[in-house]
Amino acid sequence: MGGLFFILCIFTTMNITQALTYLKQSLPKEVTLIAVSKTKPIEAITEAYQAGQLDFGENKIQEMASKWEQLPKDIRWHMIGHVQTNKVKYMAPFVSLIHAIDSRKLLAEIQKQAEKHNRIIEGLLQVRIAQEETKYGVPISEVEGLLDFASRCNNVTIKGLMGMASFTNEESQIRGEFETLSKLYFSLKPLHPSFSHLSMGMSGDYPVALQLGSNMIRVGSKLFGAR
Ligand SMILES: *Cc1c(COP(=O)(O)O)cnc(C)c1O
Repeated sequence: MGGLFFILCIFTTMNITQALTYLKQSLPKEVTLIAVSKTKPIEAITEAYQAGQLDFGENKIQEMASKWEQLPKDIRWHMIGHVQTNKVKYMAPFVSLIHAIDSRKLLAEIQKQAEKHNRIIEGLLQVRIAQEETKYGVPISEVEGLLDFASRCNNVTIKGLMGMASFTNEESQIRGEFETLSKLYFSLKPLHPSFSHLSMGMSGDYPVALQLGSNMIRVGSKLFGAR
């Protein structure tokens, strides 16, 4: 606990460039770091971009679209939040990866919008792994059915799975939930050649996620400070 407190203190006194450099140095090369910039201003994103960061995560579609318009076009935008079907159209021209696909209705709309823009949109299925009550994510029992449906959406490619652990300090619980998702991902991967991303881990729990095979972490407060 003392060690963790020490690390948190280091991060809170660092600026964005320092925090980014420090975090990147500690990550294995195959891990993609998504800088979660939701609620943060253009200046903060620009600082991270100038330090070499290209993957950014947002959880509100209109906020992401507005930032996309204002910022350099080689930024890869990740939609990490819950997606309302009627808003897919605002991100369809540019979104890089949609992390929280959780229904056929949403898949069908992404397919429709991707087709309209003549592109293939990549996404992840969000799996419900948290024991706490949550509306979001597909129950494990429905993942294969949704993958089957997705395979018939020619303009959508499912690149893997995403999940969020319960909001708790109990590391054993977080570990158990991440382990469930990891087992599912690695059991499906041989059957789904497009699978390459396991999006798992945020500021508070990414070290555990990495131990369990995550190769994509979504880190916000640890880079940009508290929201
Ligand atoms: C906000 C958010 C994050 C980042 O959270 P931090 O604790 O600030 O790192 C990651 N994933 C999702 C889905 C989020 O909404």
